[in-house]
Amino acid sequence: MGLKQIRGNAPDGGYIINGEIHISYRALEAFYLSAVGMNNEEAAEHMGIGVNTYRNHVYAVMKKLRAGNRANALLIAIENGMFEVSGHHFLLGWSPEEWVLCWKCNRAFPAEEAIGVEQESFIVDHVLIEPPPERICPYTGCGAGVWEGWSWSEVREMDSNMPEIPDRDKVYKVTWLNKKAEEFIEMKRKETYEGK
Ligand SMILES: [Zn+2]
Repeated sequence: MGLKQIRGNAPDGGYIINGEIHISYRALEAFYLSAVGMNNEEAAEHMGIGVNTYRNHVYAVMKKLRAGNRANALLIAIENGMFEVSGHHFLLGWSPEEWVLCWKCNRAFPAEEAIGVEQESFIVDHVLIEPPPERICPYTGCGAGVWEGWSWSEVREMDSNMPEIPDRDKVYKVTWLNKKAEEFIEMKRKETYEGK
């Protein structure tokens, strides 16, 4: 499910770089929110700080990482383990035989069993947009979007106690989900699919 902020070696959960430069956890959190797609106003509100303070946080991270822009800073942060990227490829789609762990009901199913739900077309700037069917969790009463789930290989990477092939109907409790990222993605999904 995207990007995860990793706590570092500094007492506040941030990082001490080269033995002297401190990047605070909060500053990295600010940067993280930018990386997952929030704009300055949204992110500042999310953190309960002013937009200028928020910008200062982001700028401090870029400067301390000696990055010329946000994209470059993100790459450096990932290379140094400050953020972890999960091996997701929801834009490219799931391979049909890959098992997916539903983020909502915590049950697993092969991606090919996901149910396709036709999406309403809409018009943007006089152009008719026909979105592809949304694929949802096949378990009764769930209906969560598949692309937000986790691939089973990803689950096993995080927790080696998980079986090679998951059981159907079984609820798998995963504790490593990044709650904030989850809420944010859900919010964006609602905006994208229901806000129109
Ligand atoms: Zn589900």
